[in-house]
Amino acid sequence: MTDGQHTFRVLRFDSADDETPAYQTYALEASPGMTVLEALLRIQAEQDGTLAFRYACRGAVCGSCAMMINGREELACRTQVRDASRQGRTVYTGSAREEVEAPGSDAQMITVEPLRNLRVIKDLVVDMEPFFDKLVAVEPWLQPEQAHPPRERRVGPGAWAEAEPYTNCILCACCHSVCPVAEQEPGYLGPAALAQHYRFLADVRDQAGEHRLALVDGDDGVNGCDFAWNCVHICPRGVPPTKGIAKTRARITRERRGDGRQ
Ligand code: SF4
Repeated sequence: MTDGQHTFRVLRFDSADDETPAYQTYALEASPGMTVLEALLRIQAEQDGTLAFRYACRGAVCGSCAMMINGREELACRTQVRDASRQGRTVYTGSAREEVEAPGSDAQMITVEPLRNLRVIKDLVVDMEPFFDKLVAVEPWLQPEQAHPPRERRVGPGAWAEAEPYTNCILCACCHSVCPVAEQEPGYLGPAALAQHYRFLADVRDQAGEHRLALVDGDDGVNGCDFAWNCVHICPRGVPPTKGIAKTRARITRERRGDGRQ
């Protein structure tokens, strides 16, 4: 039994050759339950050893295999070939998820492209360095009052609930790819970094609130967000960056008014 014959249309590019990106197609018989990542590994092993892509955990934990699958940011390791060929092409524009191409006669064609808003190094491998630089810029580590307290810092479930959703980020950069501001403004910190910023701002153990607010107070920070909500819709881990950005912005406004309520 198989999931049928599929054509993978992969956008190829090698920054070392400086050639124009071009699609290359590969035919593959998909086995039941095969993921897009497994399909790419099969293509690489059996048809084209020059095809480049990243992966590591194969379990939607490391975020390495994020790529565009039929026009949508996905983790290749958790996207089944069968589902990808059924779903048609989906894009996010503004605040709405818009189906631009329903599955039709060529529904067995699966288009695979690199993430957007990051420089392509080769094929599906993008340069993640600017993405991680932005993450480091928001200082995503705990800054407590006392570095080595005599006892552990205890956090109750109620206090942890605010920060917890943001701890699920796997730094896949799907939200950065789908963000319309990141596309226009290369200096914008972006949804992933701002989500991690809020994760520590909301952590009751952290005492660097004022300093943290200063780090993101500006057009490259929380003021840059257009509230398209694309990042919230696309995140494979259910992280809500836009909510964190809105709360950070509100807190900056309160601090400026001299009303420092959390
Ligand atoms: Fe990926 Fe979600 Fe983290 Fe963005 S917030 S990097 S989409 S896991």
